[in-house]
Amino acid sequence: MKDELLEQAEKMGFSLVGVADPELFERYPRIRKPAESEEYWSRPHEIWPAGRSVVVLGLHCREEVLDALVRMDNLFGSFYWEIIRHREYRLRDWFGEQGCEAQITDDVAVKRAAVLAGLGHVGRNSLVAHPEYGSNLRFGLLLTDAEMAFDEPNDPFESAPCGDCRRCEEVCPGEAISDYRVEFSRCIIPAAEGWLSDDEEMIREARRIQQRGEVLEVECNLCQKACPLNEAG
Ligand code: SF4
Ligand code: SF4
Repeated sequence: MKDELLEQAEKMGFSLVGVADPELFERYPRIRKPAESEEYWSRPHEIWPAGRSVVVLGLHCREEVLDALVRMDNLFGSFYWEIIRHREYRLRDWFGEQGCEAQITDDVAVKRAAVLAGLGHVGRNSLVAHPEYGSNLRFGLLLTDAEMAFDEPNDPFESAPCGDCRRCEEVCPGEAISDYRVEFSRCIIPAAEGWLSDDEEMIREARRIQQRGEVLEVECNLCQKACPLNEAG
């Protein structure tokens, strides 16, 4: 089943696939969504107790494609997510054809899932960096009752190989990044959209930065652009 899944996901155009044990999620502390909120991501068995495998799907996003899409008309935020969702539906149907059930969910912390499926480690910019693709990735997730060999999980508390680098922290216009954590209320994406942050000066600065064209219209990926782990892709 695992080999067939890998073959099918590759045919559908996913760059990465990993399978995690749902039990593993119980071993680690819950994650807030976003970090400053009082809400927590669910664990897979809370969503579907019969789920036997967590399938994490990664799509590599080429930087020049992201930049081009944004310049076309603010498609950055949704373009790759739409592709992933479309392929997730197809993969869910494929599981059905194999006699198994699969559920798409957005309620499990997908970065934690990617790490537990062996797809990378979290870097100082709080993104999952894969050894080949870096952090220019988007992830999707399915739960399935199919039993498959799990991938070797990574340790969620082990860092990506950032070493002494602090480029993402230095380049962030909102000073949102500090030691493997992004303070979401200081990231200019929500600030520029006028929500979450109540720091009026930061919101004004976010808009000024956007108007100067230093970051993209409704998005900012400076922390990814600065990252040497992304140089290969
Ligand atoms: S997206 Fe921009 S503002 Fe948000 S954390 Fe990254 S560099 Fe900072
Ligand atoms: S920019 Fe440097 S510190 Fe930040 S995630 Fe990349 S390697 Fe790590």
